[in-house]
Amino acid sequence: MKIHLQPFLVGLLIFAVSCAGSGPSSQNQPAEYITETGQLLDFQQEISADYLRPHLTAFAHDSMKGRETGTLSEKKAAEYLADEYEALGLKPVGDNDSYFQNFELNATKSDSIVFEMYAKDGTAKERISRSVASKSKTADFARLFGGTDTLSGKVVFAGFGVSDQERGVAHLDGVDLKNKWVMVFQNTPNVVDGDTLIDPKIDARKRFQMIMRQGAAGILIIPAKEPREFDVIAQKMQGSFGETGRMSLAYRESGGSSGFSGGYNVVKPGLVVKLLGLKSVEELTDYRQKLIGSITDFQPKELHYQLTQIPYSSKEVIPSQNVLALHEGADPELKEEVVVLTSHYDHVGIGEPDSTGDRIYNGADDDGSGTIGLLNIAKAFAKAKKKGIKPERSILFLNVSAEEKGLLGSRYYSDHPVFPMEKTAANLNTDMIGRIDSTHKSEGIEKYAYIIGAELISSDLDSLIKVANKQSGEITLNKRYNDLNDPQQFYRRSDHWHFGRKKVPFAFFFTGIHEDYHRPSDEVHKIRFEKMESILRTMYATTVMIANAENPPFVDNQEFIEITKSDN
Ligand SMILES: [Zn+2]
Repeated sequence: MKIHLQPFLVGLLIFAVSCAGSGPSSQNQPAEYITETGQLLDFQQEISADYLRPHLTAFAHDSMKGRETGTLSEKKAAEYLADEYEALGLKPVGDNDSYFQNFELNATKSDSIVFEMYAKDGTAKERISRSVASKSKTADFARLFGGTDTLSGKVVFAGFGVSDQERGVAHLDGVDLKNKWVMVFQNTPNVVDGDTLIDPKIDARKRFQMIMRQGAAGILIIPAKEPREFDVIAQKMQGSFGETGRMSLAYRESGGSSGFSGGYNVVKPGLVVKLLGLKSVEELTDYRQKLIGSITDFQPKELHYQLTQIPYSSKEVIPSQNVLALHEGADPELKEEVVVLTSHYDHVGIGEPDSTGDRIYNGADDDGSGTIGLLNIAKAFAKAKKKGIKPERSILFLNVSAEEKGLLGSRYYSDHPVFPMEKTAANLNTDMIGRIDSTHKSEGIEKYAYIIGAELISSDLDSLIKVANKQSGEITLNKRYNDLNDPQQFYRRSDHWHFGRKKVPFAFFFTGIHEDYHRPSDEVHKIRFEKMESILRTMYATTVMIANAENPPFVDNQEFIEITKSDN
């Protein structure tokens, strides 16, 4: 696919009236700004470790407390970025001429869950256990996940909870599971002493789907190992009470969109013993062994017990914001079109301590690296502007929030774009560009980036990146993950996807997953600033070339277009 660069295009006029009809490349007008690509590229020198290091050190500092969505720390991070854009002279294009695009998220905070177990014979009902799980205590059940509805139903004991007709295992057959609690042993004995008892492809997830598809109220897991395992799980789950749960965008909420509405609980072994009519917890282990020995004989049975689970929770409304700053283009018409550069500035906050006791998830690489990187690209454009040099199209710097909560900030922008998606020439996204993954470490290659998107969508965009890279960072462009069928599915795992699903061509710059990914040890002293510098120079040069190209990159991969159709 051919590309059109306009290296000698000069003489653009800002006063729209006098150049009406003359087209963007009119040569006879007095020059307000020079737009020459080569001259713009000279400003890649502004992208340097000297700028990146102090900013990223501040941005990933412990005092930023991991920048979790909806917290004051995230707001502080947003203000840090806005202050820098203002200092660089970029235009605020958010709400009310601010740098912020505000939006609301909904979340549920679980306060406690009451579990009541009844013995039920005909119409007679006797409560045999009542327990409450909350921040301060554990109950007879540890809820692994579930919705906000009260659930009530009879208990069915279903052994290992699988059907594998080929091997004669029918633990889910011949009994109605609708609105029942299905009690099963944790872990299936797929292969025992070299014998395949259950199809090894039936894992925990498949088993869960088999049960819930039959309309069960929920699943009760009997812990496989020693009784203490229950206590460990129950104590771990205690920590989630009083904490903000899964977030969703308020404007997309329509009734019960909380996803999973069943219950998924681990049961205290002492109670299981009672329900199965056994004598002791030790006997439970033998019982499981015996069940393995007679796995094809077992049939599920309804027990004379009923469980009611009542969750108490409160709804929370969480404010968050994307940060937007515009570098306006020089061409009176083309400046209406934008190249959007994105990174996410949120991270996962304060959480479980690691072995050193560190609890702050600094997110220096994820995605402090991309975010401070965008500031540095903005600085290069700002410096060029001071010398009277600007690209033709506009550049939008967009730092989104709530990426770690499920790409919510970019989703919000894509549904509420400040510049129409039809006028969005391309999206260049960057998330994690400061480290070296094990593959490249073993090959001794430092200056590389995985490029995802690009020719998967637009061969134009791919050519532009290659040309730009030769004149800038000269990094190794690795296409390993650039495959719609790649199991990791990176093409839809970061914010670029919300541009892609709106048919905007994107390219994602990324240096791979590493050992500190989503750990408190993702810290600034591990960042390789020289490699960041090279990747960002390539991104800068690509931005310049898209902004100055005669036509925006053309979307020409039909397979990709088909995929986006089902995702809107
Ligand atoms: Zn990230």
